[in-house]
Amino acid sequence: MRFEEFCNYLVELEKTPKRLEMINILSEVFSKTNKEEINSTVNFVQEQLLPPFYNVQLGIADKMAAKAVALAYDKAPNKILEEYKKIGDMGEVAEKECTIKQGANTSVKKIYDSLFEIAKISGEGSVEQKIRGLSDILKECSSLGARFIMRFVMGKLRLGVGEATIMEALSKAKTGSRAFKADIERAFNLCSDLGYVSDVLYSHGKEGIERFKITAMKPIRPALAERVGSTEEIIKKLGECAIDQKLDGFRAQVHKKGNEVKVFSRNLEDITHFMPEIVKEIQKMDFESIILDGEALTYDENTGTLYPFQITIQRKRKHNIEEVSQDLPLRLFVFDIMLLDGKSLINEPYVSRRSEIDRVFSNTKTITKTNMIITDKADEIDKFFDSALESGLEGIVAKRLESPYSAGARNFNWIKMKRSYNSQLTDTIDLVILGYFKGRGHRADFGIGAVLAGVYDTKEDKFKSITKVGSGFSEEQFKELYKILNDIKVDSKPARVDTILQPDVWVIPKYVITVKADEITRSPTHTAGMKEGIGYALRFPRAVTFIRTDKKAEDSNSVKDILEMYEQQKNTKVKS
Ligand code: ATP
Repeated sequence: MRFEEFCNYLVELEKTPKRLEMINILSEVFSKTNKEEINSTVNFVQEQLLPPFYNVQLGIADKMAAKAVALAYDKAPNKILEEYKKIGDMGEVAEKECTIKQGANTSVKKIYDSLFEIAKISGEGSVEQKIRGLSDILKECSSLGARFIMRFVMGKLRLGVGEATIMEALSKAKTGSRAFKADIERAFNLCSDLGYVSDVLYSHGKEGIERFKITAMKPIRPALAERVGSTEEIIKKLGECAIDQKLDGFRAQVHKKGNEVKVFSRNLEDITHFMPEIVKEIQKMDFESIILDGEALTYDENTGTLYPFQITIQRKRKHNIEEVSQDLPLRLFVFDIMLLDGKSLINEPYVSRRSEIDRVFSNTKTITKTNMIITDKADEIDKFFDSALESGLEGIVAKRLESPYSAGARNFNWIKMKRSYNSQLTDTIDLVILGYFKGRGHRADFGIGAVLAGVYDTKEDKFKSITKVGSGFSEEQFKELYKILNDIKVDSKPARVDTILQPDVWVIPKYVITVKADEITRSPTHTAGMKEGIGYALRFPRAVTFIRTDKKAEDSNSVKDILEMYEQQKNTKVKS
């Protein structure tokens, strides 16, 4: 497809907040796109060259971008930079400067490939080369193309299109109906790369997607757990089941292929470099390929005691990782296995996967298996739960014996029960920041007084407000929040945000914070779970973490979670 035609569709996309319209526009784009181009087109719409775990970045910041625009249109770089500071959108600056108003002939694929070439440039002289490369791309485009290229380069395309919308559009484009989305999603859950999945769909058709299998080095979207408030509920849901320790560290999905080892976070980022000791030990293993799921925690080498999450997270902040691993060594607790020597185990029952773990691993100080029992008795679960808490763990995860590995799904195949559920609402809640209110009084100095926070509505693929959070942050954190949020501020409510309250400043839904609250209440002000004008809200929320780098906006708690917590809260109240 010509890039100019594609950009006209992007203009249409920008105009609509309605999901159905977005699906229609995108499916028109996809149906006009051929198999050579679909991968790049899907990635472009996702505002990336490749998914984050490939670590491919353009590496172009404000000044470089300004120089590229200046070079393309024969202007002075500082004039362009000034203009950018005034307008705040490099896309608009480039659009104004470009004199070709229409008719540019270059294709989406050509633009994508050229941007990819720029990302690959490194070493001496790379800054100049990247600037030249980008200016060459701009010269091939009309002013409209220049707008979208510069927004893409600066990470500010902001089309507001979620993965679910792209999958439905692909389904519609290729099969004429949105129903094939479920199959596309299954494939996506197995590789976390929508561009690649679309490539398979276009090259091998529906059969290619139906046959889709996991492969080492492409992260599987992690299985997630539902929650319950009592052991009786676990038995009711699962009958005889496995009860596993719930450890509070980093989720780590470990891949091995030949000699290469990679580790992916819960958020599917490549965290291999944080975990040298685990990488070395997996490298030594005698299998051609492996995919494992587990939790990595730091521990005290002298006493063997596991450290809490607050200490484990320090590993991420330190630079000299080899040195840190002497003081704060990591241990991987393996709790699942999805691939062994090229054979997918994902559809095997949990018990079989677990016996593979027992067959393959013997416990060492760096890699060990979680402790697990199989039972159908509530009192045995209670005993296991109590002893988990006594050893400082977070709780338990109950697992359905015959369940497959539910990639990318939160369902009752895994059920978590944590320390806090026995009291009213002492569980923490993960919220996504939707905007902020400017500070008053002494908070005026920070520029921010509270954030508007929301939860994810998985059905509608939207973020709905649930509370304002103004306490729990330190002064330093407020100042940092102000900076971080201003980097992602937008002029109007993003398409995927649904609120009644209007914050002073809207931001792209991106950052997750964890809060504690006293209670979930019904409220006409917040849109989370809203029916007939009444939604749900949090009473007295306070932040207990700063921004969580391990979670994406869609990983915040869902509307469904809030409804469940509300029901549990009612039950506890009745009991107490
Ligand atoms: P939480 O904040 O409760 O950990 P979460 O949103 O990160 O929640 P959940 O699906 O709710 O994720 O809980 C499962 C998480 O618990 C997993 O992401 C994993 O990191 C962690 N975990 C610890 N031990 C286990 C285990 N034995 N089996 C499965 N998950 C475990």
